[in-house]
Amino acid sequence: MGLARDHYQRPLLTDSALSPERFGYVHPGLPWQDILRAYDLDQLDLAMQMIDSAGVGLGGNQLGTLRMIGAEAEARSRAQQLGGHDWLSYELIVEEAAMAPEEVEVHVRGAVDDVGRRFGYSQRPPTLVTILPRDSFDQWTPSRYGYHIAKREFDKVCLPGRLTDDPAEFSEAMRHEYGHVMAFNRTLGRCPRWLHEAVAMVAANEGPSRMVPEWLGPHELDRAFRADDSYGEGETRVWFAYQQAHEIGRYLKGLKGEMGLGTLLDAFSDNSALKNVIMAVINQESEDEALRQVYGLGTRQVFENARPASH
Ligand SMILES: [Zn+2]
Repeated sequence: MGLARDHYQRPLLTDSALSPERFGYVHPGLPWQDILRAYDLDQLDLAMQMIDSAGVGLGGNQLGTLRMIGAEAEARSRAQQLGGHDWLSYELIVEEAAMAPEEVEVHVRGAVDDVGRRFGYSQRPPTLVTILPRDSFDQWTPSRYGYHIAKREFDKVCLPGRLTDDPAEFSEAMRHEYGHVMAFNRTLGRCPRWLHEAVAMVAANEGPSRMVPEWLGPHELDRAFRADDSYGEGETRVWFAYQQAHEIGRYLKGLKGEMGLGTLLDAFSDNSALKNVIMAVINQESEDEALRQVYGLGTRQVFENARPASH
């Protein structure tokens, strides 16, 4: 794909395609393991062939993942490959998009440059931006507002095709997803989900966050993002999880600005070997160590301080 860069060190993803964090539990021995390995390598045709020959969805298991792979595969087969930068490529179904390819490129580049400038990030990890087919996303589809996925060799940002109708919304979504690309790479893949979303929400530069009914602890908050967000209660729960992450992101931004958030992400990976051993022995999490290093506050204090007064 011509995305490789000499000086760029890809965070190590050891069989991450099979991590329950990403796709839920996959029973060893089921074809899904091989399907997800192909997906991890972005071999979408191969993944779809295996899905077809194994039987669609294997009794309903992993239907959301199936839908996601299907949408990416359809984009791959129908889209034009654009870009031509060594670190940035696009897939766009030109006849479906309300924006011309050049316009998409302007908005993608604008979002990447904006996030890089604000958070002090000059690294350009190899990234593929895929505009998904318009008809591939329904209410029940997971991550239907767009998503970032760290593939084995590069980062992939997928945005729903309808976003091309609205340049402002497109840019906001792209800034959010590029916030994830940055958080993943700067922390070498160690960023917890709540901080991922905190950074992405601040990067998107959305309006003020809304009051959440219940202030969750770090592990509860991470779990809340994994709720089924198709309908009703689950959808509300996930929405509030984003609001709380945004609130925490705004709190940290208030302390040391967006540059400080960038420094925080770098602090995940600047430890000596000895420090890493000590952290393992005392069971300290990477984010707690990084927060103390940059803000002088541990995870628990940050959650306490960021909590609005009414809680
Ligand atoms: Zn996000």
